[in-house]
Amino acid sequence: MLENIKGKEPVYYQNKKLTRDLSTYLNSLPITFRDIIEAEKRMIRWSGIIKYLFPETKDGIIESPLIKANNLQKLLYPNMVGNLYLKLDSHLLVAGSIKARGGIYEVLVIAEKILKKHKILIDENNLENIRLCLSDYTMSVASTGNLGLSIGIMSAALGFKAIVHMSNDAKEWKKKRLRDKGVIVIEHKGDFTYAAKKGREQAMLDSNTHFIDDENSKELFLGYSVSALRIKKQFNELGINPSKENPLHLYLPCGVGGSPGGITFGFKHVFGETVKCYFVEPINCPSMLLGVLTGKLGDVNVSDFGITNKTSLDGLAVASPSNFVAPLMEKLCDGFYTVKDNDMFIQIKQLKDTEGIKIEPSAAAGISGVKATKNLSSKGYHIIWTTGGLFVPDEIYDRMYFRGATLCQKK
Ligand SMILES: *Cc1c(COP(=O)(O)O)cnc(C)c1O
Repeated sequence: MLENIKGKEPVYYQNKKLTRDLSTYLNSLPITFRDIIEAEKRMIRWSGIIKYLFPETKDGIIESPLIKANNLQKLLYPNMVGNLYLKLDSHLLVAGSIKARGGIYEVLVIAEKILKKHKILIDENNLENIRLCLSDYTMSVASTGNLGLSIGIMSAALGFKAIVHMSNDAKEWKKKRLRDKGVIVIEHKGDFTYAAKKGREQAMLDSNTHFIDDENSKELFLGYSVSALRIKKQFNELGINPSKENPLHLYLPCGVGGSPGGITFGFKHVFGETVKCYFVEPINCPSMLLGVLTGKLGDVNVSDFGITNKTSLDGLAVASPSNFVAPLMEKLCDGFYTVKDNDMFIQIKQLKDTEGIKIEPSAAAGISGVKATKNLSSKGYHIIWTTGGLFVPDEIYDRMYFRGATLCQKK
């Protein structure tokens, strides 16, 4: 397996260390089901303010549609036994990606702590006082793009001074979008791990600066996990009823591991043995896969294996997995697979052509999952988690679509 990974072949690794006793394992952890419920309650507490700041969210709860993907299924997997669905986090409002779950949640946790200390009421009618209070504080984060968008946009809207440390692969349009919202963008010459190190160092110099640490954050993780509570209602509407015979299969793009990890944690709590979770990474950044496969967890760096960490899949260019998430996923994630960048451009085209849905290339990584994980003959519900794309400017999207179309012709 290691040789194939080093040789940059797409691989599938079925996790041999998956826990055999799920409930005992979950009960042994310091973060609990109660924490997920508390996280959802916190988001409800803030929904009035979010509704006021972002009226497009309607009720102030930022959630994405779940749809059945018949046309995509017919095109790609005409012989699959189960049914194909899309969880469209690509269309999460406010942040335009899955980062709307974790990033915004952590901003709310920090804001709530500060406001409590100053005895300021969390209420949309008190927004002027809230913003005045938070303007004395700085929210800082390192990002390859999407996390910066989510935290920058929400922090600035609440009145924080917001700083985003961008890695060298961050897209211009994401930086511009942030600067237009009054966020300070610092461009670093290194990769995500480097930008995170610099951001952490700078934040340490000021006691009123909070650094959101994507590599170690429990709050981000919990923000993602709430998706499992909310999806139950969508399952009821679509007649999805997971069981041992007809399980859920989730296909989740993985960067540092916070978003797929939090979702897996939430789903394993809510759906137990009836859910299987698969993580997908680019062939050039298989950091979580290497961490789990070698047992070194957060201590691996893809460069130790002669792998470049270069990918055009935004958000997935991560050389080392989260130290906090990797040990949990060693026990909870069912399997890992890798994909080639070019295939993701083909898949964004196929998704547009069949379902009319626009996503960014990293968000297409789940689409190959049914085949890659050898699940074509697996019964049940196969949910591809599309993780970003709403804010991609049209002219940039058109170029990516064209790249996919050109690649399709060559095949
Ligand atoms: C961040 C991101 C991911 C991966 O999330 P991690 O928490 O870094 O694992 C996947 N897709 C998109 C579009 C992202 O922005």
